[in-house]
Formats: sequence, structure tokens, C-alpha cells
Amino acid sequence: MFPVRTFVSELRAANLLEEVRWRNGVYCPRCRAEYVIQYGSYPMFQRYLCEDCDRTFNDQTGTVFEHSALALRK
Ligand SMILES: [Zn+2]
Repeated sequence: MFPVRTFVSELRAANLLEEVRWRNGVYCPRCRAEYVIQYGSYPMFQRYLCEDCDRTFNDQTGTVFEHSALALRK
């Protein structure tokens, strides 16, 4: 129960994030349209395509997790 355990817990966190974030349905974080389709996925996060403004986003877009990821890169 070594690296696998870490992966599972991270996957659970990702699933939890997705549940909370999309509780009221998936919508575009940019134009707030609800015309979004699943558009492939990253290893851990679902990716979406907005059919309204034609932009892609994922579960982390616009969340505190995105900002923390940016902070780490600096
Ligand atoms: Zn959009």
C-alpha cells in the first residue's frame, strides 16, 4: 500500500472537488454557458469544451487550486 495509496487518495480528492464544483451542473467559467461537453481528460481531471465560446477548461480552472498551482510555478 505504498505509491498506490497516495494515488487513490488524490483521486478521491479530485472526485470530491468535481462533486462540489459541479453540484449545480457543469458550466463554462468564462461565459457561464451550460453548453459544455466532455472533451478528453487529464490524468486526474475531467476536461470540458464550451460549445458557446469554444474554449476548453477543466475541473481546476478558476478554483483556488489553479491559483495555488500558479503560485508554485513562480
Ligand atoms: Zn464558454
